[in-house]
Amino acid sequence: MKVTKSELAHVAVKPEQYPTSRLPEIALSGRSNVGKSSFINKMINRKGLARTSQRPGKTQTLNFYEINEMLYFVDVPGYGFAKVPKPEREAWGRMIETYLQDREQLKAVVLIVDLRHPPSADDKMMYNWLKHFDIPVIVVATKSDKIPKGKWEKHLKVIRNDLEKIESDPLLLFSSETAQGKEQVWKTIQHYISQ
Ligand code: GDP
Repeated sequence: MKVTKSELAHVAVKPEQYPTSRLPEIALSGRSNVGKSSFINKMINRKGLARTSQRPGKTQTLNFYEINEMLYFVDVPGYGFAKVPKPEREAWGRMIETYLQDREQLKAVVLIVDLRHPPSADDKMMYNWLKHFDIPVIVVATKSDKIPKGKWEKHLKVIRNDLEKIESDPLLLFSSETAQGKEQVWKTIQHYISQ
């Protein structure tokens, strides 16, 4: 897909602040530092629109990026809780649960994992939680440029098995460095938003 227009249109911590237009939404989730901001920026051809490496402890918001007046990417704050104090963790949980459980326009969640490593306990928890609520998930394994091509399949297999991934959920390779997978991910997103 050719992205000609993208902007951070809404920043929300509660439902009254969500967009009121009925455009379809695709949420992006992943542990902190996995490469989520780089993924968003690469997908929409904007170097610095999504902020990279948000520090844990900073105000956590849902960021709605409007794309081509056609859909929103909803950047969900990264998880990875070892260093985050419990009250903040709980606030994060409430905010994203409210959004993910109740949002009618939400068509799928892109769960971003690192191709180099087996999914973390938090990755598995997130995936299982989404599946519990019957939310379609597109699993994107990023940083493919850091793994030799001959080993991609082996790493994908580990991710597939460890997540106990449901067959109908796509698992796609991606790299924010080389743009590998970009067209395939767009095609997959377009499929979900047309549902
Ligand atoms: P976020 O915290 O999930 O938003 O992660 P960032 O997008 O800030 O990425 C974390 C680090 O990984 C940064 O240093 C990025 O430059 C790097 N990074 C992200 N995606 C890729 C990728 O596809 N390939 C490589 N080689 N590095 C990446």
